[in-house]
Amino acid sequence: MEGRRVIGLAARDESGHLSPYSFTLRKTGPEDVVLKVLYCGVDHTDLHQMRSEIFPINYPLVPGHEVVGEVEELGSEAKKFKLGDKVGVGCMISSCGKCMACESNSEQYCSERILTYSGTNKDGTPTQGGFSSAMVVHQKFVVKIPEKLAPEQAAPLLCAGVTAYSPLKQFYNPDKAIKAGILGLGGVGHLGVLIAKAMGHHVTVISSSENKRVEALEHLGADAFLVSSNAAEMEGAANSLDYILDTVPALHPLGPYISLLKVAGKLIFVGVATKPLCFNTEHLLLAGKKSLTGSFIGSMEETQEILDFWSEKALTSMIGVVKADYINKAFEKMERNEVRYRFVLDVAGSNLE
Ligand code: NAP
Ligand code: ZN
Repeated sequence: MEGRRVIGLAARDESGHLSPYSFTLRKTGPEDVVLKVLYCGVDHTDLHQMRSEIFPINYPLVPGHEVVGEVEELGSEAKKFKLGDKVGVGCMISSCGKCMACESNSEQYCSERILTYSGTNKDGTPTQGGFSSAMVVHQKFVVKIPEKLAPEQAAPLLCAGVTAYSPLKQFYNPDKAIKAGILGLGGVGHLGVLIAKAMGHHVTVISSSENKRVEALEHLGADAFLVSSNAAEMEGAANSLDYILDTVPALHPLGPYISLLKVAGKLIFVGVATKPLCFNTEHLLLAGKKSLTGSFIGSMEETQEILDFWSEKALTSMIGVVKADYINKAFEKMERNEVRYRFVLDVAGSNLE
């Protein structure tokens, strides 16, 4: 039997402009879940990829990898879910299942992982994301949305949330006073603030302007706010942070941020700078035993963990739910750094045609 025909929003070229696109899902396999998409978060990685900024893309490309849906159909061996369950799909839909990364529940680092979109299914068809009426995904790469969590709130956790949670987990120690820095207060950054606070950290937001100071301190509960261009403020906070989560999606100098770290502090990159970054090793890294490290989304186990953590701690993110007719504007606002702080596309409530 052929897969079902669906309608989505696709970029056709490097302009990244999205327009309606009809395509066929791959055939449903025995362990597959077919979900009707309800909501999908709007991530800066979508923009990078729609424009071929990270690697060349084969168009048409249907973006979206913060997907919340409802189970509509199950393969004969797909026992993990029931029809009607609320489920989530993040950035990957397959991995080899037998390499070291896969065996240690870190399948996001499997060299054969298949990304939710801009990848290739095992049958040779392109993978397409959640800006689409339905998706078919192997049950291993589908998580359960906790009952208490509103589906639109759950969406950003499936990429941005787990991207912050996975590297921050190593600092989750209630007996230790941890001083955190979150660099760039966008989709990933604002969830980073909420997660770090829920882990008991003292949180400093480092932002490129004054614009978000009040929101960061009063709405998100950050403890301190630094403007990166304010030399006096930055100097006053030198050598004070255990880690900085760097979410900046563009070229930026590293020295000022490395200077904020304590001895043995870590600068953790999750943002994709589309040009090479540089820094000075001597006094910044060597003399302070500091490290630069990176992190890519999170494992399937961690994706379920952040959903459960979020629900248990009753956290609320700052999202703006939009319909499909607003989606190109939403990306323009993201590019202008005007989003507070994550758009979520109401896929089921939109006319995608
Ligand atoms: P976003 O919502 O656009 O937020 C990025 C924030 O960075 C902005 O709000 C802004 O914060 C700051 N910023 C933007 N342009 C800047 C510039 N030119 N110089 C300095 N700061 C700038 O993006 P997002 O969805 O959070 O994604 C952030 C990055 O993480 C993207 O590169 C995305 O591809 C990447 N990402 C990676 C992973 C992973 O697995 N590693 C997962 C998800 C996303 P301020 O106004 O506070 O300065
Ligand atoms: Zn593997």
